[in-house]
Amino acid sequence: MSSDPAGRRPPDPRCPLRPGEPCTLCQLNVTGPQDCGLVYLMMSDEELRDLRRTHLATSRAPRGD
Ligand code: SF4
Repeated sequence: MSSDPAGRRPPDPRCPLRPGEPCTLCQLNVTGPQDCGLVYLMMSDEELRDLRRTHLATSRAPRGD
């Protein structure tokens, strides 16, 4: 039985580094993506951000097989 009368469940934080997958708290002493040092490093590096953006765009594009 849910403790929320509206039946809502808590948010399911997603890992920005593994699109589509939940945050598994794989880094030491983190409470989620908001204080994850790996996410911070990735998102504060322009080249890595661009690489991520390119990877996301190509992985979402339909394949021409
Ligand atoms: S701790 Fe950081 S790297 Fe690990 S799953 Fe969560 S957001 Fe991703």
